[in-house]
Amino acid sequence: MTGKDLKPATIAARAAGASDSGSAGVVPGIHLATTYMRGRDNALIRDGNMYGRDQNDTVRQAEEVLRQLEGAAATLLFPSGMAAVASLFRTVPNGGRVVVQSGIYWGTTGWTRDFCARRGITLTEVDASDPQAFEAACTQGPADLIWIEVPSNPWLKMVDIAAAASLARAAGALLAVDATAATPVLMRPLALGADFVMHSATKAINGHTDVLAGVLSCVDQDHAAWQAIATDRHDAGAILGPFEAWLLMRGMRTLPLRMERMCTNAQAVAEFLNAHAAVESVFYPGLPSHPGHELALRQMAGGYGYLMSVLIRGGRMAALDVAGKLTLAHRATSLGGVESLVEHRYTVEPDTGIPENLLRLSVGIEDVNDLIADLDQALNP
Ligand code: PLP
Repeated sequence: MTGKDLKPATIAARAAGASDSGSAGVVPGIHLATTYMRGRDNALIRDGNMYGRDQNDTVRQAEEVLRQLEGAAATLLFPSGMAAVASLFRTVPNGGRVVVQSGIYWGTTGWTRDFCARRGITLTEVDASDPQAFEAACTQGPADLIWIEVPSNPWLKMVDIAAAASLARAAGALLAVDATAATPVLMRPLALGADFVMHSATKAINGHTDVLAGVLSCVDQDHAAWQAIATDRHDAGAILGPFEAWLLMRGMRTLPLRMERMCTNAQAVAEFLNAHAAVESVFYPGLPSHPGHELALRQMAGGYGYLMSVLIRGGRMAALDVAGKLTLAHRATSLGGVESLVEHRYTVEPDTGIPENLLRLSVGIEDVNDLIADLDQALNP
C-alpha cells in the first residue's frame, strides 16, 4: 500500500515508512552532518547531499510524514510557526494587498501589521467568520493573499474554507489556512480548496512541548509562490535542526491517538464548563451552541480539537482566581501538548480586545475525570 491509500494513524505510527537504512533499525537515526563527501571524481557520493542547509535526511523524513498526513504536493519545515508564516507573507509583492482574519493568534496579527507597513502592502483585517464582512473585504479589489486561522486562537471562530477559496480565486489571491488548532488529523484545508496550509508544529503536531517548529504545505509545488518560499528558506536559511525534526517525527507517531484523546477530553470539559454556574460562556466548536458548530461538523472529522476559551463570571479577578486554584493544568502559554495548560490571555495581550475574564484552556490527555474534578474545585467558591 502506498502513502496515498493509508489512513493517518498508519502514516503517523510508521513515520511514513522512515527507517534506518544503514543499520536496518526500525527507527531512523538522526543525521547531524552539516556537509557531505565527494568521491575521487569530485562527484557527490550521495546525489543531492552537498550541504546541510540544502538537504538533511531527518528533516526530509519529518516533512514526508506531514506531506502525507496533509495530502499535500510538497511540505517544508521551518524553525518555528512564525518563520513559516513569514515565509509565506514574503511572497507578497511590495504594494500588494492581503486580507487577514482579525482576532487570530496575536503574534501573526502583530507581525503582519508591521511587515505590511514596512513593505507598503495594504492590509485588510476582517472577521472572516462573518460571511458578509469577509466577502466585502475580499471583493474590495484584487488581492495577493488571504490568510485565515481555523479554528482561531483564542476565539475558536470557524471560517468556511471552501467559500474562502472561491473568494480568493475571484480576487486573484492565494488562500492560506493556519490550521494549528485542528492539526491535519482533524481538518485538511488543501482538500477544501486552500492553496497553502500552515501549522505551528510546536503545538499538537509535536505534542510534547519540547520542540519549536513550523510547517507549510501546498497543493501545487510548481506554483511561483511555492518556488519562492523554497528558495527563500534555503537562501535565507530558516532551516529546522535535525534533532528537532527527529523529535517531531517521534511525536507525530502518536498524533492521531493523542488527538482522539484530547478531543474526547476537550468535548467533556467544554460540556462541563458550559453547564457550570460560575461560567459565563464557553467558546468551543464542539458545542451545538457554538455559532460555527455546523461548519465544524462539515469541515472537521474526528473531533473539534483541544483548544477552548472560557469567560468566567465575576471579571478579571475571578478568572485569575480560577486559574490560580487549578492544580493539574499548568499556568503557561502555548497549546497542544499532552499536558493541559491554562492561560489568562488578557495578561499577555491586554490591548487586543480580549475580555479580562477569558481563560484559554489547552486540554491534554490526562484522565478527564481528574481534569473536571480539578476545574470543579477551582470554580466553586
Ligand atoms: N499560529 C497559531 C494559531 C499559534 O497559536 C501560534 C503560537 O502560539 C503560532 C501560529 C506561532 O507558532 P510558533 O510559536 O511555533 O512560532
